[in-house]
Amino acid sequence: MAIGGGTRLTGIFGDPVAHSASPAMHNAAYAALGMDRVYVPFHVLPGQLPAALRAIEALGLLGVNITVPHKERAARLLRHQSAEARALGAVNCVWPRRGELYGDNTDARGLAADLAALRAPLKGRTAIVIGAGGGAAAAVLALQRLGVRRLVITNRTRRRALNLAARFKSARIEVRDLRALNDPDLIGDAALVLNATSVGLEPGPFLPLAWDAARTDCFFYDLIYAAEPTAFLRPALERGLRTADGAGMLLRQGALAFELFNGVKAPLQAMREALYARLGRSA
Ligand code: NAP
Repeated sequence: MAIGGGTRLTGIFGDPVAHSASPAMHNAAYAALGMDRVYVPFHVLPGQLPAALRAIEALGLLGVNITVPHKERAARLLRHQSAEARALGAVNCVWPRRGELYGDNTDARGLAADLAALRAPLKGRTAIVIGAGGGAAAAVLALQRLGVRRLVITNRTRRRALNLAARFKSARIEVRDLRALNDPDLIGDAALVLNATSVGLEPGPFLPLAWDAARTDCFFYDLIYAAEPTAFLRPALERGLRTADGAGMLLRQGALAFELFNGVKAPLQAMREALYARLGRSA
């Protein structure tokens, strides 16, 4: 598509940003819908975030995604934001309206939509979240929405897990340390074990976990996405258990952002194909 005088811009602010798969997904969506719009990665250094946010209105951008390391800072800078962004303390989309900036966070809705599409059986069941950072917070919100009965957060730093549990104020949330992953009773009770740590980004095995105690219908979900099965998913796959990585969450949070920025339904299949091509795997 040729860029012309009427072309409108959307994009993503991050540091780094060159690795982001979002431009491929959003530009594929514009091409599929024949829209005269482009989605551009903007390398925004931390000190430049306030100026970059002000430029959204000045440059007439329709909306931008916010990624690492700016999500929490953007939440502190924006006056208008959704209840969901406030609950997560992080913003991943910003758009202008009538001279003001608005923020939302589509990570939890993206994950909930992906888990629903995968038909992971969660209502009234037990889910374990490993990790207590931004991804884990989105997972806790999504799992509460999907009606889990018991939610166990395990994290290397206990204080961070306690803070996360306190933020969602629910008697259904328990905090355990990482050794609990080796407890067959806990793993055997779970319908979902979700990795929201960065363990697996580097080569090497995952944390000790009682894989053999898992129920046959237990779902293993890794927020990390890659061309090949991740270190967390490999032992589950070897045992014939159900697995998914975070590509589906990434796709669906992107589709929700596309709809916020452009006001039209996102072409999910075109975005999925572009994402999978970017990740180097077949659709
Ligand atoms: P974060 O806020 O930096 O949190 C990182 C988490 O990993 C913390 O809980 C940290 O524990 C834990 N961790 C790091 N190294 C560890 C180790 N060696 N052993 C045990 N725990 C360790 O990161 P985040 O934003 O939540 O992201 C976490 C992962 O999710 C990343 O890989 C990210 O790419 C992915 N993610 C994917 C999506 C998606 O759309 N698919 C969305 C969000 C995030 P401590 O608290 O003890 O430091």
